[in-house]
Amino acid sequence: MFVSENLSVNEKGHLVIGKNDAVELAKEFGTPLYVLDEDLIRKHCRVYRDAMDKYYGGNGLVLYASKAFCSLYICRVAKEEGLGLDVVSGGELYTALKADFPMDKVYFHGNNKTVDEIELAVKNGVGHFIVDNIYELETLNETAKKAGIVQKIMFRIKPGVDAHTHSFIQTGQIDSKFGVALENGEAFEIIKRASEMSNVKVDGIHCHIGSQIFDIEPFRKAAEIMMNFIGDLKDKLGLEIDMLNLGGGYGIMYTESDDPVPYDEYIRHISGIVKETAEKRGVKVPFILMEPGRSIVAPAGVTLYTVGGVKDIKNVRKYVSVDGGMGDNPRYIMYQSEYEAVIANKANAERTEKVTIAGKCCESGDILLKDAVMPEIHVGDTLAVLATGAYNYSMASNYNRIPRPAVVAVSDGNAKVVIKRETYEDLICNDL
Ligand SMILES: *Cc1c(COP(=O)(O)O)cnc(C)c1O
Repeated sequence: MFVSENLSVNEKGHLVIGKNDAVELAKEFGTPLYVLDEDLIRKHCRVYRDAMDKYYGGNGLVLYASKAFCSLYICRVAKEEGLGLDVVSGGELYTALKADFPMDKVYFHGNNKTVDEIELAVKNGVGHFIVDNIYELETLNETAKKAGIVQKIMFRIKPGVDAHTHSFIQTGQIDSKFGVALENGEAFEIIKRASEMSNVKVDGIHCHIGSQIFDIEPFRKAAEIMMNFIGDLKDKLGLEIDMLNLGGGYGIMYTESDDPVPYDEYIRHISGIVKETAEKRGVKVPFILMEPGRSIVAPAGVTLYTVGGVKDIKNVRKYVSVDGGMGDNPRYIMYQSEYEAVIANKANAERTEKVTIAGKCCESGDILLKDAVMPEIHVGDTLAVLATGAYNYSMASNYNRIPRPAVVAVSDGNAKVVIKRETYEDLICNDL
Protein backbone atom coordinates (compact mmCIF):
# COMPACT_ATOMS: atom_id res chain seq x y z
CA MET A 1 0.00 0.00 0.00
CA PHE A 2 2.94 2.37 0.64
CA VAL A 3 6.21 2.70 -1.27
CA SER A 4 8.18 1.69 1.83
CA GLU A 5 7.58 -1.79 3.24
CA ASN A 6 7.91 -0.73 6.88
CA LEU A 7 4.84 1.51 6.99
CA SER A 8 1.35 0.56 8.13
CA VAL A 9 -1.81 2.12 9.54
CA ASN A 10 -3.12 1.58 13.08
CA GLU A 11 -6.69 1.37 14.40
CA LYS A 12 -6.85 5.17 14.76
CA GLY A 13 -6.07 5.49 11.07
CA HIS A 14 -2.63 6.90 11.86
CA LEU A 15 0.53 6.14 9.94
CA VAL A 16 2.86 3.76 11.79
CA ILE A 17 6.64 3.58 11.32
CA GLY A 18 8.81 1.16 13.30
CA LYS A 19 5.79 0.38 15.56
CA ASN A 20 5.54 4.11 16.41
CA ASP A 21 2.46 6.22 15.70
CA ALA A 22 3.69 9.02 13.42
CA VAL A 23 1.17 11.51 14.83
CA GLU A 24 2.48 10.84 18.35
CA LEU A 25 6.07 11.25 17.14
CA ALA A 26 5.17 14.64 15.65
CA LYS A 27 3.55 15.66 18.94
CA GLU A 28 6.43 14.48 21.11
CA PHE A 29 9.36 15.76 19.04
CA GLY A 30 7.80 18.58 17.01
CA THR A 31 7.84 19.16 13.25
CA PRO A 32 9.44 19.16 10.80
CA LEU A 33 10.94 15.87 11.93
CA TYR A 34 13.07 13.30 10.20
CA VAL A 35 12.17 9.79 11.33
CA LEU A 36 14.45 6.84 10.50
CA ASP A 37 13.47 3.20 10.95
CA GLU A 38 16.62 1.62 12.35
CA ASP A 39 15.32 -1.92 11.95
CA LEU A 40 14.86 -1.39 8.21
CA ILE A 41 18.31 0.18 7.86
CA ARG A 42 19.84 -2.86 9.58
CA LYS A 43 17.79 -5.19 7.39
CA HIS A 44 19.17 -3.52 4.25
CA CYS A 45 22.73 -3.79 5.57
CA ARG A 46 22.17 -7.53 6.04
CA VAL A 47 20.61 -8.05 2.61
CA TYR A 48 23.76 -6.64 1.02
CA ARG A 49 26.11 -8.46 3.35
CA ASP A 50 24.34 -11.80 2.88
CA ALA A 51 24.37 -11.41 -0.91
CA MET A 52 28.11 -10.74 -0.80
CA ASP A 53 28.59 -13.93 1.18
CA LYS A 54 26.33 -15.91 -1.11
CA TYR A 55 27.76 -14.82 -4.46
CA TYR A 56 31.39 -14.09 -3.63
CA GLY A 57 31.88 -16.57 -0.80
CA GLY A 58 32.50 -13.71 1.62
CA ASN A 59 35.39 -12.40 -0.49
CA GLY A 60 34.05 -8.86 -0.39
CA LEU A 61 32.91 -5.93 1.73
CA VAL A 62 29.88 -3.66 1.61
CA LEU A 63 30.70 -0.01 2.23
CA TYR A 64 27.95 2.33 3.32
CA ALA A 65 28.20 5.50 1.21
CA SER A 66 27.91 7.90 4.10
CA LYS A 67 27.10 10.97 2.05
CA ALA A 68 23.51 9.67 1.79
CA PHE A 69 23.09 10.36 5.52
CA CYS A 70 26.12 11.01 7.68
CA SER A 71 26.10 11.27 11.47
CA LEU A 72 27.70 9.61 14.47
CA TYR A 73 24.58 7.48 14.83
CA ILE A 74 24.64 5.96 11.34
CA CYS A 75 28.41 5.36 11.51
CA ARG A 76 27.79 3.31 14.67
CA VAL A 77 24.98 1.32 13.01
CA ALA A 78 27.16 0.59 9.96
CA LYS A 79 30.00 -0.47 12.23
CA GLU A 80 27.73 -2.79 14.23
CA GLU A 81 26.48 -4.35 11.00
CA GLY A 82 30.03 -5.07 9.89
CA LEU A 83 30.01 -2.66 6.95
CA GLY A 84 32.87 -0.48 5.79
CA LEU A 85 32.45 3.23 5.07
CA ASP A 86 32.81 5.44 2.03
CA VAL A 87 33.64 9.07 2.94
CA VAL A 88 34.13 11.98 0.55
CA SER A 89 35.36 14.83 2.72
CA GLY A 90 37.30 15.73 5.83
CA GLY A 91 33.98 16.30 7.59
CA GLU A 92 32.65 12.83 6.83
CA LEU A 93 36.00 11.36 7.82
CA TYR A 94 35.96 13.32 11.07
CA THR A 95 32.47 11.99 11.82
CA ALA A 96 33.71 8.41 11.26
CA LEU A 97 36.70 9.05 13.53
CA LYS A 98 34.49 10.42 16.31
CA ALA A 99 32.22 7.36 15.97
CA ASP A 100 35.29 5.14 16.48
CA PHE A 101 34.80 3.60 13.08
CA PRO A 102 37.61 1.14 12.24
CA MET A 103 39.82 3.22 9.93
CA ASP A 104 41.08 0.23 7.94
CA LYS A 105 37.51 -0.15 6.63
CA VAL A 106 37.24 3.48 5.52
CA TYR A 107 37.57 4.35 1.82
CA PHE A 108 38.30 7.98 1.06
CA HIS A 109 36.71 9.36 -2.13
CA GLY A 110 36.47 12.78 -3.72
CA ASN A 111 37.58 14.50 -6.90
CA ASN A 112 39.44 17.31 -5.16
CA LYS A 113 40.72 16.26 -1.77
CA THR A 114 42.60 19.14 -0.21
CA VAL A 115 46.11 18.83 1.22
CA ASP A 116 44.60 19.16 4.71
CA GLU A 117 42.13 16.37 4.04
CA ILE A 118 44.86 14.11 2.64
CA GLU A 119 47.02 14.74 5.72
CA LEU A 120 44.11 14.11 8.10
CA ALA A 121 43.36 10.79 6.40
CA VAL A 122 47.00 9.62 6.26
CA LYS A 123 47.58 10.61 9.89
CA ASN A 124 44.58 8.61 11.03
CA GLY A 125 45.36 5.48 9.03
CA VAL A 126 42.50 5.49 6.53
CA GLY A 127 42.54 2.09 4.81
CA HIS A 128 42.26 3.12 1.17
CA PHE A 129 42.23 6.28 -0.87
CA ILE A 130 40.21 6.21 -4.07
CA VAL A 131 42.53 8.40 -6.09
CA ASP A 132 40.82 10.62 -8.63
CA ASN A 133 43.61 12.39 -10.52
CA ILE A 134 47.35 12.87 -10.98
CA TYR A 135 47.58 15.91 -8.70
CA GLU A 136 46.06 13.93 -5.84
CA LEU A 137 48.33 10.96 -6.57
CA GLU A 138 51.47 13.08 -6.33
CA THR A 139 50.30 14.94 -3.21
CA LEU A 140 49.38 11.66 -1.55
CA ASN A 141 52.68 9.98 -2.39
CA GLU A 142 54.56 12.95 -0.87
CA THR A 143 52.34 13.03 2.23
CA ALA A 144 52.75 9.27 2.76
CA LYS A 145 56.52 9.59 2.32
CA LYS A 146 56.67 12.29 5.01
CA ALA A 147 54.56 10.12 7.31
CA GLY A 148 56.81 7.13 6.60
CA ILE A 149 54.03 4.88 5.35
CA VAL A 150 52.92 3.16 2.15
CA GLN A 151 49.33 4.18 1.48
CA LYS A 152 46.99 1.66 -0.15
CA ILE A 153 45.09 3.16 -3.06
CA MET A 154 42.47 2.39 -5.66
CA PHE A 155 41.71 4.43 -8.78
CA ARG A 156 38.43 5.96 -9.79
CA ILE A 157 37.85 4.88 -13.38
CA LYS A 158 35.26 6.15 -15.85
CA PRO A 159 34.27 2.94 -17.62
CA GLY A 160 32.41 4.82 -20.37
CA VAL A 161 28.99 3.41 -19.46
CA ASP A 162 25.87 5.47 -19.93
CA ALA A 163 23.48 4.88 -17.03
CA HIS A 164 19.91 5.98 -17.63
CA THR A 165 19.31 8.43 -14.83
CA HIS A 166 19.20 12.20 -14.23
CA SER A 167 22.22 13.85 -15.90
CA PHE A 168 23.27 15.42 -12.58
CA ILE A 169 23.77 11.96 -11.09
CA GLN A 170 25.35 10.23 -14.12
CA THR A 171 29.03 9.68 -13.50
CA GLY A 172 30.31 6.82 -15.69
CA GLN A 173 30.78 8.69 -18.98
CA ILE A 174 33.98 10.39 -20.21
CA ASP A 175 32.46 13.87 -19.80
CA SER A 176 32.48 13.74 -15.99
CA LYS A 177 34.51 15.53 -13.37
CA PHE A 178 35.12 12.25 -11.53
CA GLY A 179 38.03 9.94 -12.17
CA VAL A 180 40.18 8.98 -15.13
CA ALA A 181 38.93 7.62 -18.47
CA LEU A 182 39.63 4.23 -19.94
CA GLU A 183 39.06 4.94 -23.61
CA ASN A 184 41.83 7.55 -24.01
CA GLY A 185 44.46 5.64 -22.03
CA GLU A 186 44.40 8.08 -19.10
CA ALA A 187 43.53 5.35 -16.59
CA PHE A 188 46.31 3.07 -17.81
CA GLU A 189 48.91 5.85 -17.65
CA ILE A 190 48.08 6.96 -14.12
CA ILE A 191 48.17 3.40 -12.78
CA LYS A 192 51.51 2.78 -14.51
CA ARG A 193 52.81 5.96 -12.90
CA ALA A 194 51.52 4.95 -9.46
CA SER A 195 53.05 1.48 -9.72
CA GLU A 196 56.46 3.18 -9.96
CA MET A 197 55.95 5.38 -6.90
CA SER A 198 57.52 4.57 -3.55
CA ASN A 199 54.80 5.40 -1.03
CA VAL A 200 51.56 4.25 -2.61
CA LYS A 201 50.47 0.71 -3.37
CA VAL A 202 47.92 0.09 -6.11
CA ASP A 203 45.40 -2.32 -4.61
CA GLY A 204 42.45 -1.89 -6.86
CA ILE A 205 40.21 -0.03 -9.24
CA HIS A 206 36.84 1.57 -8.69
CA CYS A 207 33.89 2.77 -10.70
CA HIS A 208 30.58 4.35 -9.80
CA ILE A 209 28.34 4.92 -12.80
CA GLY A 210 25.62 7.03 -11.20
CA SER A 211 22.71 6.94 -8.80
CA GLN A 212 19.05 5.84 -8.73
CA ILE A 213 19.65 3.31 -11.54
CA PHE A 214 17.03 0.63 -12.20
CA ASP A 215 18.60 -1.45 -15.02
CA ILE A 216 20.99 -4.29 -14.37
CA GLU A 217 22.61 -3.88 -17.78
CA PRO A 218 24.79 -0.77 -17.11
CA PHE A 219 26.10 -2.41 -13.90
CA ARG A 220 26.90 -5.64 -15.78
CA LYS A 221 28.56 -3.70 -18.58
CA ALA A 222 30.66 -1.69 -16.12
CA ALA A 223 31.74 -4.83 -14.23
CA GLU A 224 32.77 -6.53 -17.46
CA ILE A 225 34.76 -3.49 -18.64
CA MET A 226 36.50 -3.21 -15.27
CA MET A 227 37.40 -6.92 -15.25
CA ASN A 228 38.80 -6.63 -18.76
CA PHE A 229 40.87 -3.67 -17.62
CA ILE A 230 42.23 -5.82 -14.77
CA GLY A 231 43.20 -8.34 -17.47
CA ASP A 232 44.91 -5.60 -19.51
CA LEU A 233 46.88 -4.37 -16.49
CA LYS A 234 48.14 -7.89 -15.89
CA ASP A 235 49.02 -8.48 -19.55
CA LYS A 236 50.72 -5.14 -20.17
CA LEU A 237 52.21 -4.21 -16.80
CA GLY A 238 52.34 -7.52 -14.99
CA LEU A 239 50.29 -5.79 -12.31
CA GLU A 240 47.92 -7.92 -10.23
CA ILE A 241 44.82 -6.05 -9.07
CA ASP A 242 43.44 -7.45 -5.83
CA MET A 243 40.31 -5.36 -5.35
CA LEU A 244 37.43 -4.26 -7.52
CA ASN A 245 35.05 -1.63 -6.17
CA LEU A 246 31.83 -1.41 -8.17
CA GLY A 247 30.33 1.65 -6.46
CA GLY A 248 26.70 2.23 -5.52
CA GLY A 249 23.72 3.64 -7.35
CA TYR A 250 21.00 1.04 -6.82
CA GLY A 251 17.57 2.58 -7.35
CA ILE A 252 14.80 2.74 -4.78
CA MET A 253 11.05 3.22 -4.92
CA TYR A 254 10.10 6.86 -4.38
CA THR A 255 6.73 6.50 -6.12
CA GLU A 256 4.61 3.63 -7.43
CA SER A 257 6.10 4.12 -10.90
CA ASP A 258 9.62 3.19 -9.72
CA ASP A 259 10.47 -0.48 -10.15
CA PRO A 260 13.75 -1.40 -8.49
CA VAL A 261 15.41 -4.79 -8.98
CA PRO A 262 15.95 -6.66 -5.67
CA TYR A 263 19.54 -5.95 -4.57
CA ASP A 264 20.29 -9.62 -4.25
CA GLU A 265 19.46 -9.99 -7.96
CA TYR A 266 21.88 -7.24 -8.96
CA ILE A 267 24.67 -8.86 -7.04
CA ARG A 268 23.92 -12.29 -8.47
CA HIS A 269 24.07 -10.96 -12.05
CA ILE A 270 27.18 -8.91 -11.48
CA SER A 271 29.02 -11.73 -9.73
CA GLY A 272 28.28 -13.92 -12.76
CA ILE A 273 29.96 -11.55 -15.20
CA VAL A 274 32.87 -10.89 -12.81
CA LYS A 275 33.66 -14.61 -12.48
CA GLU A 276 33.16 -15.29 -16.19
CA THR A 277 35.46 -12.45 -17.26
CA ALA A 278 38.08 -13.40 -14.66
CA GLU A 279 38.23 -16.87 -16.14
CA LYS A 280 38.33 -15.60 -19.71
CA ARG A 281 41.20 -13.23 -18.93
CA GLY A 282 43.14 -15.59 -16.69
CA VAL A 283 43.04 -13.38 -13.60
CA LYS A 284 41.78 -14.24 -10.13
CA VAL A 285 38.39 -13.04 -8.93
CA PRO A 286 39.24 -9.88 -6.98
CA PHE A 287 37.99 -8.91 -3.52
CA ILE A 288 34.72 -7.14 -4.32
CA LEU A 289 33.54 -3.88 -2.79
CA MET A 290 30.26 -2.15 -3.32
CA GLU A 291 29.01 1.19 -2.01
CA PRO A 292 25.24 1.46 -1.57
CA GLY A 293 24.07 4.68 0.07
CA ARG A 294 20.56 5.62 -0.98
CA SER A 295 19.23 2.04 -1.00
CA ILE A 296 20.29 1.47 2.62
CA VAL A 297 18.76 4.57 4.19
CA ALA A 298 16.25 6.21 1.82
CA PRO A 299 13.31 3.81 2.26
CA ALA A 300 13.80 3.90 6.05
CA GLY A 301 13.13 7.64 6.30
CA VAL A 302 9.92 9.64 6.63
CA THR A 303 9.71 13.40 7.15
CA LEU A 304 6.80 14.72 9.19
CA TYR A 305 5.46 18.23 8.68
CA THR A 306 2.56 20.27 10.04
CA VAL A 307 0.20 21.72 7.46
CA GLY A 308 -0.28 25.48 7.62
CA GLY A 309 -1.99 27.67 5.04
CA VAL A 310 -4.06 26.12 2.25
CA LYS A 311 -4.49 28.35 -0.79
CA ASP A 312 -7.04 27.30 -3.38
CA ILE A 313 -6.52 29.41 -6.52
CA LYS A 314 -9.65 28.53 -8.51
CA ASN A 315 -8.94 26.91 -11.89
CA VAL A 316 -5.19 27.31 -11.33
CA ARG A 317 -3.78 25.25 -8.47
CA LYS A 318 -4.30 24.41 -4.83
CA TYR A 319 -1.24 25.04 -2.66
CA VAL A 320 -0.80 23.38 0.70
CA SER A 321 2.07 24.88 2.71
CA VAL A 322 4.01 22.99 5.35
CA ASP A 323 6.47 24.05 8.05
CA GLY A 324 9.58 22.77 6.21
CA GLY A 325 10.58 22.49 2.54
CA MET A 326 13.74 22.91 0.47
CA GLY A 327 15.80 23.54 3.60
CA ASP A 328 15.25 19.98 4.83
CA ASN A 329 14.60 18.40 1.40
CA PRO A 330 16.25 20.17 -1.55
CA ARG A 331 15.75 17.26 -3.95
CA TYR A 332 12.74 18.72 -5.77
CA ILE A 333 14.40 22.07 -6.40
CA MET A 334 17.61 20.31 -7.51
CA TYR A 335 16.29 17.43 -9.59
CA GLN A 336 12.47 17.74 -9.68
CA SER A 337 12.46 14.52 -7.67
CA GLU A 338 9.13 12.88 -7.03
CA TYR A 339 7.84 11.67 -3.69
CA GLU A 340 4.74 10.15 -2.20
CA ALA A 341 3.02 11.62 0.83
CA VAL A 342 0.43 10.49 3.36
CA ILE A 343 -1.66 12.49 5.78
CA ALA A 344 -0.40 10.75 8.90
CA ASN A 345 -3.51 11.48 10.99
CA LYS A 346 -5.84 9.95 8.34
CA ALA A 347 -3.60 7.58 6.50
CA ASN A 348 -6.44 5.55 4.97
CA ALA A 349 -8.52 8.50 3.76
CA GLU A 350 -9.58 8.42 0.13
CA ARG A 351 -7.47 10.53 -2.22
CA THR A 352 -9.84 12.97 -3.85
CA GLU A 353 -8.05 16.14 -4.92
CA LYS A 354 -4.94 17.33 -6.67
CA VAL A 355 -2.73 19.63 -4.60
CA THR A 356 0.79 21.01 -4.68
CA ILE A 357 2.64 20.77 -1.40
CA ALA A 358 4.94 23.73 -0.92
CA GLY A 359 7.60 24.60 1.63
CA LYS A 360 7.99 27.85 3.54
CA CYS A 361 11.13 29.21 1.86
CA CYS A 362 11.28 32.30 -0.33
CA GLU A 363 11.62 30.42 -3.62
CA SER A 364 8.79 29.49 -5.98
CA GLY A 365 10.61 26.23 -6.66
CA ASP A 366 10.40 25.32 -2.98
CA ILE A 367 8.04 22.40 -3.55
CA LEU A 368 7.87 18.94 -2.00
CA LEU A 369 5.20 17.38 -4.22
CA LYS A 370 3.73 18.84 -7.37
CA ASP A 371 0.18 17.90 -8.42
CA ALA A 372 -0.16 15.09 -5.90
CA VAL A 373 -3.54 13.41 -5.49
CA MET A 374 -4.27 13.63 -1.76
CA PRO A 375 -7.22 13.37 0.62
CA GLU A 376 -8.71 16.69 1.67
CA ILE A 377 -6.01 18.48 3.72
CA HIS A 378 -6.64 20.89 6.58
CA VAL A 379 -4.57 23.23 8.71
CA GLY A 380 -2.95 21.26 11.53
CA ASP A 381 -2.81 17.92 9.69
CA THR A 382 0.45 15.98 9.96
CA LEU A 383 1.91 15.34 6.52
CA ALA A 384 4.38 12.48 6.04
CA VAL A 385 6.66 12.53 3.00
CA LEU A 386 7.99 9.02 2.37
CA ALA A 387 11.40 7.62 1.47
CA THR A 388 13.34 10.68 2.67
CA GLY A 389 16.14 8.84 4.50
CA ALA A 390 18.83 9.63 1.92
CA TYR A 391 20.09 12.95 0.55
CA ASN A 392 17.66 14.93 2.73
CA TYR A 393 19.33 15.60 6.09
CA SER A 394 22.75 15.35 4.41
CA MET A 395 21.79 18.01 1.85
CA ALA A 396 19.83 20.21 4.25
CA SER A 397 20.64 23.90 4.61
CA ASN A 398 19.75 26.83 6.83
CA TYR A 399 18.34 28.87 3.96
CA ASN A 400 16.09 31.63 5.29
CA ARG A 401 17.73 30.91 8.65
CA ILE A 402 15.44 28.00 9.30
CA PRO A 403 16.94 25.59 11.86
CA ARG A 404 17.50 22.03 10.65
CA PRO A 405 14.98 19.50 12.06
CA ALA A 406 15.82 16.79 14.57
CA VAL A 407 16.41 13.19 13.49
CA VAL A 408 14.63 10.51 15.51
CA ALA A 409 15.51 6.84 15.11
CA VAL A 410 12.71 4.38 15.78
CA SER A 411 13.07 0.70 16.46
CA ASP A 412 10.52 -1.82 17.65
CA GLY A 413 8.26 0.74 19.33
CA ASN A 414 11.04 2.88 20.79
CA ALA A 415 12.06 6.31 19.58
CA LYS A 416 15.24 8.24 20.37
CA VAL A 417 16.65 11.54 19.16
CA VAL A 418 19.92 10.88 17.30
CA ILE A 419 20.43 14.42 16.02
CA LYS A 420 19.06 17.35 18.01
CA ARG A 421 16.89 20.01 16.42
CA GLU A 422 18.88 23.17 15.76
CA THR A 423 17.98 26.24 17.75
CA TYR A 424 18.05 29.91 16.77
CA GLU A 425 21.14 30.19 18.96
CA ASP A 426 22.83 27.48 16.81
CA LEU A 427 22.14 29.62 13.76
CA ILE A 428 24.18 32.56 15.04
CA CYS A 429 26.84 30.66 16.99
CA ASN A 430 29.57 31.35 14.39
CA ASP A 431 28.49 34.92 13.66
CA LEU A 432 30.93 37.57 14.93
C1 LIG B 1 27.22 8.72 -4.22
C2 LIG B 1 28.16 7.62 -4.32
C3 LIG B 1 27.79 6.35 -3.88
C4 LIG B 1 26.42 6.03 -3.35
O1 LIG B 1 25.44 6.14 -4.33
P1 LIG B 1 23.93 5.72 -4.00
O2 LIG B 1 23.19 6.07 -5.22
O3 LIG B 1 23.51 6.53 -2.83
O4 LIG B 1 23.94 4.25 -3.72
C5 LIG B 1 28.73 5.35 -3.91
N1 LIG B 1 29.99 5.59 -4.37
C6 LIG B 1 30.37 6.80 -4.82
C7 LIG B 1 31.76 7.00 -5.28
C8 LIG B 1 29.48 7.85 -4.82
O5 LIG B 1 29.86 9.03 -5.26
